[in-house]
Amino acid sequence: MKIRRNILLNPGPATTTDTVKLAQVVSDICPREKEFVTMMKRMREDLVRIVHGDMNKYTAVLFCGSGTINIDICLNSLLPKGKKILIINNGAYSARAAEICAYYGLPFIDLKFAVDEQPDLGKIEQILKENSDIALVHTTHNETGTGILNPIREIGALVHCYNAVFTVDTTSTYAMRPIDIEKDNIDFCMASAQKGLMAMTGLSFIIGNTEIIKRSAEYPKRSYYCNLYLQYHFFEMTGEMHFTPPVQTIYAARQALDEYFAEGEEAKWQRHLSVFEAIHVGLERLGFQDIIKRELQAGLVVSVKYPDDVNWDFEKVHDYCYERGFTIYPGKVSTQNTFRLCALGAITAEDIEDFFVVLEEALRTYNIQIPVCYSK
Ligand SMILES: *Cc1c(COP(=O)(O)O)cnc(C)c1O
Repeated sequence: MKIRRNILLNPGPATTTDTVKLAQVVSDICPREKEFVTMMKRMREDLVRIVHGDMNKYTAVLFCGSGTINIDICLNSLLPKGKKILIINNGAYSARAAEICAYYGLPFIDLKFAVDEQPDLGKIEQILKENSDIALVHTTHNETGTGILNPIREIGALVHCYNAVFTVDTTSTYAMRPIDIEKDNIDFCMASAQKGLMAMTGLSFIIGNTEIIKRSAEYPKRSYYCNLYLQYHFFEMTGEMHFTPPVQTIYAARQALDEYFAEGEEAKWQRHLSVFEAIHVGLERLGFQDIIKRELQAGLVVSVKYPDDVNWDFEKVHDYCYERGFTIYPGKVSTQNTFRLCALGAITAEDIEDFFVVLEEALRTYNIQIPVCYSK
Protein backbone atom coordinates (compact mmCIF):
# COMPACT_ATOMS: atom_id res chain seq x y z
CA MET A 1 0.00 0.00 0.00
CA LYS A 2 1.33 3.45 -0.94
CA ILE A 3 0.15 6.24 1.32
CA ARG A 4 0.97 9.79 0.29
CA ARG A 5 3.17 11.38 2.94
CA ASN A 6 1.86 14.75 4.07
CA ILE A 7 3.94 17.07 6.21
CA LEU A 8 1.71 18.48 8.92
CA LEU A 9 3.04 21.71 10.39
CA ASN A 10 -0.16 22.26 12.38
CA PRO A 11 -0.05 21.71 16.16
CA GLY A 12 -1.44 18.17 15.98
CA PRO A 13 -2.54 15.77 14.78
CA ALA A 14 1.01 15.16 13.66
CA THR A 15 2.55 13.38 10.69
CA THR A 16 2.73 9.67 11.50
CA THR A 17 4.86 6.83 10.17
CA ASP A 18 3.26 4.31 7.82
CA THR A 19 3.93 1.59 10.39
CA VAL A 20 1.77 3.45 12.90
CA LYS A 21 -0.97 4.03 10.31
CA LEU A 22 -0.99 0.37 9.32
CA ALA A 23 -0.96 -0.85 12.93
CA GLN A 24 -4.67 0.04 12.95
CA VAL A 25 -5.43 -2.72 10.48
CA VAL A 26 -5.90 -5.69 12.76
CA SER A 27 -8.25 -8.60 13.13
CA ASP A 28 -11.50 -7.68 14.82
CA ILE A 29 -11.29 -8.15 18.54
CA CYS A 30 -13.56 -7.49 21.49
CA PRO A 31 -11.63 -5.14 23.81
CA ARG A 32 -12.75 -7.17 26.82
CA GLU A 33 -10.45 -10.02 25.71
CA LYS A 34 -7.38 -10.74 27.85
CA GLU A 35 -5.09 -10.03 24.91
CA PHE A 36 -6.36 -6.47 24.66
CA VAL A 37 -6.42 -5.93 28.43
CA THR A 38 -2.78 -7.05 28.66
CA MET A 39 -1.82 -4.58 25.95
CA MET A 40 -3.54 -1.72 27.78
CA LYS A 41 -1.83 -2.55 31.05
CA ARG A 42 1.55 -2.37 29.35
CA MET A 43 0.53 0.84 27.63
CA ARG A 44 -0.42 2.52 30.91
CA GLU A 45 2.98 1.66 32.33
CA ASP A 46 4.81 2.91 29.24
CA LEU A 47 2.93 6.21 29.43
CA VAL A 48 4.19 6.69 33.00
CA ARG A 49 7.68 5.64 31.87
CA ILE A 50 7.82 8.46 29.31
CA VAL A 51 7.72 11.04 32.13
CA HIS A 52 10.04 8.93 34.32
CA GLY A 53 7.36 8.34 36.92
CA ASP A 54 7.84 5.87 39.76
CA MET A 55 5.25 3.12 39.14
CA ASN A 56 4.53 2.97 42.86
CA LYS A 57 3.51 6.62 42.93
CA TYR A 58 2.14 7.43 39.49
CA THR A 59 -0.40 5.88 37.17
CA ALA A 60 -1.84 6.54 33.72
CA VAL A 61 -5.56 6.64 33.03
CA LEU A 62 -6.77 6.42 29.43
CA PHE A 63 -9.80 8.12 27.95
CA CYS A 64 -11.51 8.12 24.60
CA GLY A 65 -11.51 11.69 23.35
CA SER A 66 -9.35 14.55 22.11
CA GLY A 67 -6.84 16.30 24.38
CA THR A 68 -9.33 18.75 25.83
CA ILE A 69 -11.06 15.90 27.63
CA ASN A 70 -8.02 15.65 29.94
CA ILE A 71 -8.33 19.26 31.07
CA ASP A 72 -12.04 18.77 31.64
CA ILE A 73 -11.45 15.60 33.68
CA CYS A 74 -8.63 16.95 35.84
CA LEU A 75 -10.45 20.15 36.74
CA ASN A 76 -13.86 18.64 37.44
CA SER A 77 -12.51 15.57 39.30
CA LEU A 78 -9.71 16.91 41.48
CA LEU A 79 -11.37 19.79 43.30
CA PRO A 80 -12.48 19.07 46.88
CA LYS A 81 -15.73 20.56 48.16
CA GLY A 82 -15.51 24.20 49.21
CA LYS A 83 -12.12 24.73 47.51
CA LYS A 84 -10.97 26.86 44.62
CA ILE A 85 -8.93 26.47 41.41
CA LEU A 86 -6.21 28.85 40.26
CA ILE A 87 -5.64 29.00 36.49
CA ILE A 88 -2.34 30.54 35.45
CA ASN A 89 -3.34 31.89 32.09
CA ASN A 90 -1.02 33.28 29.42
CA GLY A 91 -2.65 31.86 26.35
CA ALA A 92 -5.45 30.07 24.56
CA TYR A 93 -5.10 26.65 26.20
CA SER A 94 -5.11 27.96 29.76
CA ALA A 95 -8.03 30.18 28.75
CA ARG A 96 -9.79 26.96 27.72
CA ALA A 97 -9.19 25.58 31.23
CA ALA A 98 -10.77 28.72 32.70
CA GLU A 99 -13.74 28.22 30.40
CA ILE A 100 -14.12 24.64 31.63
CA CYS A 101 -14.20 25.88 35.25
CA ALA A 102 -16.90 28.36 34.27
CA TYR A 103 -18.96 25.65 32.54
CA TYR A 104 -18.88 23.45 35.65
CA GLY A 105 -19.55 26.41 37.91
CA LEU A 106 -16.34 25.72 39.83
CA PRO A 107 -14.94 28.53 41.97
CA PHE A 108 -11.77 29.70 40.24
CA ILE A 109 -9.34 32.56 39.84
CA ASP A 110 -8.28 33.33 36.30
CA LEU A 111 -4.81 34.83 36.78
CA LYS A 112 -4.03 36.38 33.41
CA PHE A 113 -0.63 37.31 32.02
CA ALA A 114 0.38 38.71 28.64
CA VAL A 115 0.46 36.02 25.94
CA ASP A 116 4.05 36.81 25.04
CA GLU A 117 5.39 36.68 28.59
CA GLN A 118 6.00 33.96 31.13
CA PRO A 119 3.80 34.15 34.23
CA ASP A 120 5.20 36.17 37.13
CA LEU A 121 6.06 33.86 40.02
CA GLY A 122 5.72 36.69 42.55
CA LYS A 123 2.13 37.34 41.50
CA ILE A 124 1.33 33.62 41.65
CA GLU A 125 2.71 33.39 45.16
CA GLN A 126 0.76 36.45 46.25
CA ILE A 127 -2.50 34.89 45.03
CA LEU A 128 -1.69 31.59 46.77
CA LYS A 129 -0.90 33.46 49.98
CA GLU A 130 -4.12 35.50 49.87
CA ASN A 131 -6.34 32.51 49.01
CA SER A 132 -5.73 29.63 51.36
CA ASP A 133 -8.72 27.82 49.82
CA ILE A 134 -6.91 27.20 46.52
CA ALA A 135 -6.61 23.41 46.30
CA LEU A 136 -5.72 23.03 42.62
CA VAL A 137 -3.47 25.05 40.33
CA HIS A 138 -3.50 24.50 36.58
CA THR A 139 -1.37 25.81 33.76
CA THR A 140 -0.06 24.88 30.31
CA HIS A 141 3.52 23.72 29.70
CA ASN A 142 3.99 24.80 26.10
CA GLU A 143 1.23 27.27 25.26
CA THR A 144 0.53 25.86 21.82
CA GLY A 145 -1.22 29.07 20.73
CA THR A 146 2.05 31.00 20.81
CA GLY A 147 4.82 28.49 21.50
CA ILE A 148 5.85 30.02 24.83
CA LEU A 149 7.34 27.70 27.45
CA ASN A 150 6.03 28.12 30.98
CA PRO A 151 8.33 27.51 33.99
CA ILE A 152 6.36 24.60 35.39
CA ARG A 153 9.03 23.32 37.75
CA GLU A 154 9.21 26.68 39.52
CA ILE A 155 5.43 27.13 39.55
CA GLY A 156 5.00 23.58 40.85
CA ALA A 157 7.42 24.21 43.71
CA LEU A 158 5.34 27.22 44.78
CA VAL A 159 2.09 25.31 44.43
CA HIS A 160 3.40 22.56 46.69
CA CYS A 161 4.58 25.10 49.30
CA TYR A 162 0.93 26.10 49.56
CA ASN A 163 -0.28 22.48 49.68
CA ALA A 164 -2.19 22.58 46.44
CA VAL A 165 -2.30 20.03 43.62
CA PHE A 166 -0.58 21.00 40.37
CA THR A 167 -2.10 19.92 37.06
CA VAL A 168 -0.18 20.77 33.91
CA ASP A 169 -1.44 20.63 30.36
CA THR A 170 1.55 18.98 28.69
CA THR A 171 -0.39 18.03 25.58
CA SER A 172 2.11 19.77 23.30
CA THR A 173 5.30 18.72 25.09
CA TYR A 174 4.65 15.15 26.30
CA ALA A 175 6.87 12.63 24.45
CA MET A 176 8.76 15.49 22.82
CA ARG A 177 10.37 17.87 25.29
CA PRO A 178 11.66 15.67 28.14
CA ILE A 179 9.56 15.78 31.31
CA ASP A 180 10.31 14.31 34.72
CA ILE A 181 6.98 14.27 36.51
CA GLU A 182 8.43 14.25 40.02
CA LYS A 183 11.37 16.63 39.51
CA ASP A 184 9.13 18.99 37.56
CA ASN A 185 6.77 19.13 40.56
CA ILE A 186 3.82 17.92 38.49
CA ASP A 187 0.99 16.03 40.16
CA PHE A 188 -0.92 15.45 36.93
CA CYS A 189 0.14 15.86 33.34
CA MET A 190 -1.76 14.94 30.22
CA ALA A 191 -1.55 14.40 26.49
CA SER A 192 -3.26 12.74 23.60
CA ALA A 193 -1.88 10.17 21.23
CA GLN A 194 -1.83 12.32 18.10
CA LYS A 195 0.76 14.84 19.28
CA GLY A 196 4.13 13.88 20.77
CA LEU A 197 3.50 10.17 20.43
CA MET A 198 2.83 10.56 16.71
CA ALA A 199 -0.14 8.19 16.79
CA MET A 200 -3.80 8.57 15.89
CA THR A 201 -6.48 10.93 17.19
CA GLY A 202 -9.10 9.84 19.73
CA LEU A 203 -7.03 8.53 22.63
CA SER A 204 -6.05 10.75 25.55
CA PHE A 205 -4.38 10.04 28.85
CA ILE A 206 -3.72 11.58 32.23
CA ILE A 207 -0.60 10.60 34.13
CA GLY A 208 -0.59 11.46 37.78
CA ASN A 209 -0.27 10.80 41.45
CA THR A 210 -2.15 7.67 42.47
CA GLU A 211 -2.69 8.77 46.08
CA ILE A 212 -4.36 11.98 44.96
CA ILE A 213 -6.63 10.05 42.59
CA LYS A 214 -7.65 7.76 45.44
CA ARG A 215 -8.32 10.76 47.67
CA SER A 216 -10.53 12.25 44.96
CA ALA A 217 -12.99 9.35 45.37
CA GLU A 218 -14.52 11.50 48.12
CA TYR A 219 -14.70 14.71 46.07
CA PRO A 220 -17.93 15.97 44.51
CA LYS A 221 -18.88 14.10 41.32
CA ARG A 222 -19.47 16.64 38.60
CA SER A 223 -19.43 14.44 35.53
CA TYR A 224 -20.18 10.79 34.89
CA TYR A 225 -18.25 10.09 31.71
CA CYS A 226 -15.40 12.43 32.60
CA ASN A 227 -14.57 11.41 36.16
CA LEU A 228 -10.95 10.52 36.88
CA TYR A 229 -11.50 8.31 39.90
CA LEU A 230 -14.26 6.30 38.25
CA GLN A 231 -12.09 5.50 35.22
CA TYR A 232 -9.03 4.78 37.39
CA HIS A 233 -11.02 2.51 39.66
CA PHE A 234 -12.43 0.56 36.72
CA PHE A 235 -8.94 0.13 35.27
CA GLU A 236 -7.64 -1.15 38.60
CA MET A 237 -10.54 -3.58 39.02
CA THR A 238 -10.69 -4.93 35.48
CA GLY A 239 -7.73 -3.64 33.47
CA GLU A 240 -10.20 -2.14 31.04
CA MET A 241 -11.64 1.23 30.13
CA HIS A 242 -15.03 1.74 31.71
CA PHE A 243 -16.68 2.16 28.32
CA THR A 244 -15.75 1.04 24.82
CA PRO A 245 -12.17 2.03 24.01
CA PRO A 246 -11.04 3.23 20.57
CA VAL A 247 -9.67 -0.21 19.69
CA GLN A 248 -7.79 0.45 16.46
CA THR A 249 -6.45 3.77 17.75
CA ILE A 250 -4.99 1.90 20.70
CA TYR A 251 -3.20 -0.54 18.40
CA ALA A 252 -1.67 2.42 16.59
CA ALA A 253 -0.63 3.99 19.92
CA ARG A 254 1.01 0.69 20.91
CA GLN A 255 3.09 0.77 17.73
CA ALA A 256 3.89 4.46 18.29
CA LEU A 257 5.12 3.72 21.82
CA ASP A 258 7.44 1.03 20.45
CA GLU A 259 8.76 3.53 17.92
CA TYR A 260 9.12 6.18 20.64
CA PHE A 261 11.33 3.96 22.79
CA ALA A 262 13.28 2.78 19.73
CA GLU A 263 14.06 6.38 18.73
CA GLY A 264 14.84 7.34 22.32
CA GLU A 265 13.82 10.36 24.39
CA GLU A 266 16.92 12.44 23.77
CA ALA A 267 17.32 11.59 20.07
CA LYS A 268 13.65 12.36 19.46
CA TRP A 269 13.88 15.69 21.25
CA GLN A 270 17.00 16.58 19.25
CA ARG A 271 15.13 15.74 16.05
CA HIS A 272 12.24 18.04 17.00
CA LEU A 273 14.75 20.75 17.88
CA SER A 274 16.46 20.39 14.50
CA VAL A 275 13.07 20.74 12.79
CA PHE A 276 12.34 23.80 14.94
CA GLU A 277 15.72 25.30 14.05
CA ALA A 278 15.08 24.66 10.34
CA ILE A 279 11.72 26.45 10.66
CA HIS A 280 13.48 29.49 12.12
CA VAL A 281 16.17 29.46 9.43
CA GLY A 282 13.56 29.32 6.67
CA LEU A 283 11.42 32.06 8.20
CA GLU A 284 14.41 34.31 8.67
CA ARG A 285 15.53 33.81 5.08
CA LEU A 286 12.11 34.99 3.84
CA GLY A 287 12.00 37.86 6.35
CA PHE A 288 9.16 36.56 8.52
CA GLN A 289 8.91 37.73 12.15
CA ASP A 290 7.62 35.69 15.06
CA ILE A 291 5.89 36.99 18.17
CA ILE A 292 7.61 35.24 21.10
CA LYS A 293 11.18 35.99 22.15
CA ARG A 294 13.31 33.11 20.96
CA GLU A 295 14.65 32.30 24.44
CA LEU A 296 11.08 31.85 25.72
CA GLN A 297 10.01 29.43 22.98
CA ALA A 298 9.48 25.81 23.97
CA GLY A 299 11.09 24.52 20.78
CA LEU A 300 7.96 23.13 19.14
CA VAL A 301 5.68 25.90 17.87
CA VAL A 302 6.55 29.09 16.00
CA SER A 303 3.88 31.77 15.89
CA VAL A 304 4.51 33.94 12.83
CA LYS A 305 3.19 37.45 12.15
CA TYR A 306 1.26 38.02 8.94
CA PRO A 307 3.32 40.28 6.66
CA ASP A 308 1.97 43.78 6.01
CA ASP A 309 1.53 43.17 2.29
CA VAL A 310 -1.73 43.83 0.47
CA ASN A 311 -1.20 40.60 -1.46
CA TRP A 312 -0.80 38.43 1.65
CA ASP A 313 -3.68 36.00 1.89
CA PHE A 314 -3.23 33.18 4.38
CA GLU A 315 -5.89 31.01 2.77
CA LYS A 316 -4.27 31.20 -0.67
CA VAL A 317 -0.80 30.47 0.70
CA HIS A 318 -2.23 27.65 2.78
CA ASP A 319 -4.00 26.11 -0.21
CA TYR A 320 -0.90 26.36 -2.39
CA CYS A 321 1.17 24.52 0.24
CA TYR A 322 -1.60 22.05 1.03
CA GLU A 323 -1.88 20.95 -2.59
CA ARG A 324 1.83 20.14 -2.45
CA GLY A 325 1.62 18.12 0.76
CA PHE A 326 2.40 20.73 3.42
CA THR A 327 -0.15 21.93 5.98
CA ILE A 328 0.28 25.28 7.72
CA TYR A 329 -2.08 26.46 10.43
CA PRO A 330 -3.81 29.66 11.55
CA GLY A 331 -2.76 31.37 14.77
CA LYS A 332 -4.51 31.50 18.10
CA VAL A 333 -3.65 34.96 19.36
CA SER A 334 -6.65 37.25 19.67
CA THR A 335 -4.75 40.53 19.34
CA GLN A 336 -2.56 39.78 16.30
CA ASN A 337 -2.89 38.00 12.98
CA THR A 338 -0.55 35.04 13.05
CA PHE A 339 -0.04 31.59 11.58
CA ARG A 340 1.79 28.66 13.10
CA LEU A 341 4.50 26.27 12.03
CA CYS A 342 5.10 23.34 14.37
CA ALA A 343 7.91 20.87 14.86
CA LEU A 344 5.71 17.94 15.95
CA GLY A 345 5.47 14.61 14.20
CA ALA A 346 7.53 12.17 12.20
CA ILE A 347 9.32 14.81 10.15
CA THR A 348 12.89 16.01 9.75
CA ALA A 349 14.79 19.22 8.98
CA GLU A 350 14.92 18.14 5.28
CA ASP A 351 11.12 18.17 5.15
CA ILE A 352 11.23 21.74 6.40
CA GLU A 353 13.76 22.71 3.71
CA ASP A 354 11.38 21.22 1.11
CA PHE A 355 8.52 23.15 2.69
CA PHE A 356 10.31 26.48 2.41
CA VAL A 357 10.92 25.90 -1.31
CA VAL A 358 7.16 25.53 -1.69
CA LEU A 359 6.34 28.46 0.59
CA GLU A 360 8.67 30.70 -1.41
CA GLU A 361 6.97 29.58 -4.64
CA ALA A 362 3.62 30.43 -3.05
CA LEU A 363 4.80 33.93 -2.15
CA ARG A 364 6.09 34.50 -5.69
CA THR A 365 2.90 33.11 -7.23
CA TYR A 366 0.77 35.61 -5.31
CA ASN A 367 3.18 38.55 -5.74
CA ILE A 368 3.94 38.78 -2.06
CA GLN A 369 7.17 40.71 -1.57
CA ILE A 370 10.29 38.73 -0.59
CA PRO A 371 11.69 39.28 1.94
CA VAL A 372 8.24 39.83 3.38
CA CYS A 373 7.63 43.33 4.70
CA TYR A 374 6.34 44.71 7.99
CA SER A 375 5.22 48.28 8.55
CA LYS A 376 6.92 48.40 11.94
C1 LIG B 1 -3.72 20.13 21.29
C2 LIG B 1 -3.82 20.65 22.65
C3 LIG B 1 -4.91 20.34 23.46
C4 LIG B 1 -6.06 19.48 23.01
O1 LIG B 1 -6.76 19.94 21.94
P1 LIG B 1 -7.83 18.98 21.24
O2 LIG B 1 -8.29 19.77 20.07
O3 LIG B 1 -8.89 18.68 22.21
O4 LIG B 1 -7.07 17.73 20.85
C5 LIG B 1 -4.91 20.78 24.75
N1 LIG B 1 -3.90 21.52 25.24
C6 LIG B 1 -2.83 21.83 24.50
C7 LIG B 1 -1.73 22.63 25.12
C8 LIG B 1 -2.75 21.42 23.17
O5 LIG B 1 -1.68 21.72 22.45
